[in-house]
Amino acid sequence: MNKPSLVVSLIAALVLAACSKTADVQETTAPSPADAPAAAQAPDAPAAPAPATATAFDFRIGELSATALKDGDIELPNDNQVFGVGLKPEGVAAVLGANGVPTDKLHLSIQPLLVRAGESLLLFDTGAGGNFGPGSGKLAGSLAGAGIDPAKITDIFISHSHGDHIGGLVSADGKLNFPNARIHLTKAEWDSLSKQEKLAPVVAAIQPKVTPFSPNAELVPGIVKAVEVRGHTPGHSAYLITSGEQSLLYVGDSMHHYIVSVQKPEWTISFDGDNATATASRIKLIADSAVSGQRVYAVHFPFPGLGKFEKKGDGQVWVAE
Ligand SMILES: [Zn+2]
Repeated sequence: MNKPSLVVSLIAALVLAACSKTADVQETTAPSPADAPAAAQAPDAPAAPAPATATAFDFRIGELSATALKDGDIELPNDNQVFGVGLKPEGVAAVLGANGVPTDKLHLSIQPLLVRAGESLLLFDTGAGGNFGPGSGKLAGSLAGAGIDPAKITDIFISHSHGDHIGGLVSADGKLNFPNARIHLTKAEWDSLSKQEKLAPVVAAIQPKVTPFSPNAELVPGIVKAVEVRGHTPGHSAYLITSGEQSLLYVGDSMHHYIVSVQKPEWTISFDGDNATATASRIKLIADSAVSGQRVYAVHFPFPGLGKFEKKGDGQVWVAE
């Protein structure tokens, strides 16, 4: 990072810290499990996440500075249409209740990730745009609040082409929201996206910027490496972001809910395209990460989605930072 941009970042960080109370309250009003008073007392509850009203959270990955950026919230009823497909609501409710959160609904956050790497500004996924109604699509506001100009984003890494990850790429009038950014996604995902007729305008807009890659490609030497996690979509990819001895695994949609997906990774979630493969990928990723202690960034876990997995009994739990 050059000096002027470092100074600007520092000033932006100070300004943000100083006005975070006012700025935050305007951005997000949706409830979250963090609001549940029982969560703090439950013996199995992961550490309390950042306040549900925050729109940006700064942290470090070794020498790199990074910011979690809130895009919004999705709330789903506990009706086995998405989580625990084939089970009864009571089964899902038992797991939620044991963790001290409401049992009638499941809350997902959406938080794309920004990483500053020298002169490069790297964005991982782009949120929902207009795809999921007024509860999401707030990435632009969160970027502005963090003092980041969308035109300065140099690279966007897409985990997969679902609407809550590519929705922020293009504005309602079909213009690129990040006009100077290369867009990276796997060749398999690009091929799949390109065939979706409904998304033809999006495909046409982003096509000149897309640079497809092979599974597990090294994308920014020494800093960003793709990590294939199969099953969710045809070319779903996680990303490992490294600086020195430190690293962060951006898991994309290999998992969705910080309790259900982690404590019951074998349960079917309707969002997965290939259930058997996605389930096997999820079980392995969580178990391996619990053994290695890998630091994880989960785009749909309670904001800011930073933490790791720990072994507990026969399984694992999410431990937020
Ligand atoms: Zn998603």
